Formats: sequence, structure tokens, C-alpha cells
Amino acid sequence: MTDENRLISSNKRQNERENIALRPQRLSDITGQDKVRENLQIMLDAARNRKEPISHILFYGPPGLGKTSLAFVIANEMGANIRITAGPSIERAGDLAAILTHLKQGDILFIDEIHRLGRAVEEILYPAMEDFALDIVIGKGPAAKNVRLNLPRFTVIGATTRLSLLAGPLRDRFGARFRLDFYDQKAMAQIITRAAGLLKIGIEPEGTLEIARRARGTPRIAIRLLERVRDYAQTRADGVITGEVAIKALDLLDIDPLGLDDVDRRILRTIIEKFNGGPVGLSTIGASISEDSATIMDVYEPFLLQLGFLARTNRGRIVTRHAYTHLGIPIPDTPPQDEEISDQPPLF
Ligand code: ADP
Repeated sequence: MTDENRLISSNKRQNERENIALRPQRLSDITGQDKVRENLQIMLDAARNRKEPISHILFYGPPGLGKTSLAFVIANEMGANIRITAGPSIERAGDLAAILTHLKQGDILFIDEIHRLGRAVEEILYPAMEDFALDIVIGKGPAAKNVRLNLPRFTVIGATTRLSLLAGPLRDRFGARFRLDFYDQKAMAQIITRAAGLLKIGIEPEGTLEIARRARGTPRIAIRLLERVRDYAQTRADGVITGEVAIKALDLLDIDPLGLDDVDRRILRTIIEKFNGGPVGLSTIGASISEDSATIMDVYEPFLLQLGFLARTNRGRIVTRHAYTHLGIPIPDTPPQDEEISDQPPLF
């Protein structure tokens, strides 16, 4: 199964129309991420007082946690226009130059997947972010001339799932960097309640909790599950999502009580069954289950790490005792050494 087809994938699926009605408009619509919210509120108040555009901001963290939503909220709160683009769509330096020259004072340029910008494009972005200037070369050969164009003061909001892939100089040009974490169950329940209200879905508190438990701390997944459970409630029950309806619908979708799906379980089982619980490199795991290792790292692994089912060691990933217990597999006599577990970012 590719990530695109995965119900609990936190990536935006192709053709998926993000439900615009659900998108938070103001900072007060954002649930959870308390520290990020508070810091943003201070930045917004200060920028508004000074009547200046807000500083460049970088959001990083797993997909579906609200990076794009926060960019829209900031634009709304600042009363600014927002232009949306993504690293892979800006192929040449000229593409970015064209975007920059169309910006107006105070505009926000949202660059999703900013770690995927090419080197030449980044070179244009540095002076644009730092000095609000665009350096262009006019003419060719010995007659070529460097010309510096002034740009209006604008704000770049970058989003990335992979901070480590961002070039140092680019990272440094952001006045603020915020890491988004998985949401706790209370915040998830609030997000589901809000979405159910906006979508006019009847849901009981037990139904909300059941979806909150299985949505991997990720709002995008919560909303997707809510819509699927609603379908079930409308066709197999009386339309209201009770606890029992939610359990039945989610079980039918093969999402277990902790939110793991078939792919998560395959990752864990493969490490246990083929590699004695690890350590094993990410690319080997990827090859064994026919998944791209970058996708495993961005989408699947963060939640398994968060649950404490997977751990990083200097020699690769290992499956922990908790995962054996969850999967109902007996823990071997010689489990992977706990002392090997490292907090270092993965090397492979
Ligand atoms: P990302 O850019 O990190 O992949 P998005 O901003 O696209 O994530 O969020 C996915 C969806 O989840 C949004 O459409 C929004 O409706 C919802 N969402 C995300 N974060 C929150 C939040 N903190 N509160 C309420 N809804 C949220």
C-alpha cells in the first residue's frame, strides 16, 4: 500500500480537498500547541504595534499538525495577503525571482516543503529574506552586470518535515522557529468536537474520545477518521457517532486502539521477524516492506517513536518491549540492549 492510499497517513492525499470550513481562521481557533500559540501571539502583537510585517517564521514537525493552518492564521491575524508555494514547485532561480517581484509590502510568502528548494533558488532567497533585495545578473559574458532590486518588506513562512535537511544559512534567516508536536488527547478531542460541530455531525463524547485515541495526535488524521466514521454511522447506524459506532467503524478500517494501521504493524513485525528486533537501518526496513525510506522517516516513524515502540540506536532502529507486548508477540530472552538507545538524529 502506498502512503497515498493509507487512511491514517498524515500526508495530504492527492485529490483530497482540504475541508476549507474546518481550517482555523484565528489564533483562538488553534487548539493545543500552547507554547507556539503564546509565542506567536507575542510576535503578532509586537508586529502590529510597530506596524511592521512579522518576522520570518519556520514551522517544522511531522505532516498534518497544522503548519499550513498556522501560516493562514498568521496572515489573517496580520490582515496580510498570503502567497502559497512549495519547494519542489520552484524549479529555477527565475521562478522565485518572479514570485518575489510580485509581492507587496506586508505580504506573506508561504513555502511548504522548504527543505526541497534547490541551491540556486536558495541563493536568491538569502538576500531577499535578509535585506529585502533581489540580486540579478543582466546580460551575458564580460558585459554582464549585477543589479540589486529592492523588494517590499514581506514575510517568509517556511514549513518542513525535515529540519535537518535545511541548509544552515537558510535556517538562520528565520527570526523564529517553532517545532510542532503531536497533540495530546484532550486537544485532539477538542479538535474533533469543533470539526463535528462545523460539519454538523452528531457525535457523543465516547465517540469523540475513541477517534481522538486512534488519530495519532494528528489533526489531519482526526478529521479524516471523523468523516469516515460519519459515513459508517449514517449507513450502518442511526447517524450519530456513539462510542460503539466509532469502535466498530475504526476496527473495520483496521486501525487499532492506538491508531496503528497495517503498515505500522508491518514495520514492527518486519524488524522483529526478519531482523530479530533490530538494530536495522531505515533503508533496509524500507526495502523489506517496499516503502520509500524517506516516507518511513517522515510519516510512519515519528509516531512509532512517540509511542515508544521504536527506538533509534547508533546502529539503526530497534523495536522495544512495548511493541512486542502491543502486538502480542513474546519478548525474546535477549531483547535489543536498552543502553544502545540514543537521542542522536538518525544517520541513515
Ligand atoms: P501541515 O501543514 O502541518 O501538514 P495542516 O495545517 O494542513 O498541516 O493541517 C491539517 C488540517 O488539520 C487542517 O486543515 C486543519 O483543519 C486541521 N488542523 C491542524 N492543526 C489544527 C489545530 N491546531 N486546531 C484545529 N485544527 C487543526
